[in-house]
Amino acid sequence: MPLHIESPLVESHLLSLSAGRAVWLKLDSLQPPGSFKIRGIGLACEEYLKRGARRFVSSSGGNAGLAVAYAGRKLSTPVTVVVPETTSARARDLLQLEQAELIVHGASWQEANALALSMVGPTDAFLHPFDDPLLWQGHATLIDEVVASGVRPDAVVLSVGGGGLLCGVAEGLRRNSWGHVPIVAVETEGAASFHQAQKAGHPVELKKITSVATSLGAKQVCDRAFQWSQERSIISVVVSDRSALFACRRFLADHRLLVEPACGASLALAYEKATELAPFSNVLFVVCGGATATIEQIQQWSANLE
Ligand SMILES: *Cc1c(COP(=O)(O)O)cnc(C)c1O
Repeated sequence: MPLHIESPLVESHLLSLSAGRAVWLKLDSLQPPGSFKIRGIGLACEEYLKRGARRFVSSSGGNAGLAVAYAGRKLSTPVTVVVPETTSARARDLLQLEQAELIVHGASWQEANALALSMVGPTDAFLHPFDDPLLWQGHATLIDEVVASGVRPDAVVLSVGGGGLLCGVAEGLRRNSWGHVPIVAVETEGAASFHQAQKAGHPVELKKITSVATSLGAKQVCDRAFQWSQERSIISVVVSDRSALFACRRFLADHRLLVEPACGASLALAYEKATELAPFSNVLFVVCGGATATIEQIQQWSANLE
């Protein structure tokens, strides 16, 4: 039994009306730890356990850390998560509720990550949040499930942070002979590391992340994500924080599901009838989810933009 669930795939009447075409939602916001990340991280943890790991180490205060903590609890394996002081009280609580050992260290993720890496002994496994072929193999199961369902999308919309989800979906499409189906890769302004890489012709490092979509805040995408953009059709779209937040609030009203702005960024394409979707009539949206934003936080961010 894998650690992720087979998530529901539903046709959304309300988003279809907004987008002017059929919109299918793959509801990975319903994964037990709140995001798609458990697909890849669950598979990687099981594999590292088989290879002899006795502890999982992570430096993510976001959904990757939560997925590692969840996997560790399910696999009866201790988890240590090192997060920077900037990590929200909500995220710290969630990690501790999953029984992870939580170490708060450093002013930024770089420092927390350096400590986490220094703690990795010979019987520990370090779980990277997006740059690991095992993760991509696990994320690809999302597409296996869509293929098995009989739904035939002509485009897939997803959000891009470090590009792990993108690599997984691209792998899933390829291994199901759907390599011709374009991927629409969405980021927010201030976190658009994939867009910048496509423009530059190589992965580039952003100076800083300025978006509220913290789960998209990888300063640089993994090399494999960039390579995919050389090998297949990937349409890069950048939306504002305002659009992502608006989509979160609309989605809560329409589907009674609260997602992070990282996920709202993708949904914004349906709500704003993005021209990039014009060629497509059956669009699959990966509802990647995210557990770290409360409704109060989303309202606060929205108010700050007014
Ligand atoms: C991690 C995450 C992303 C981005 O995934 P990458 O694999 O880093 O590109 C998007 N949305 C949510 C909710 C996430 O947790």
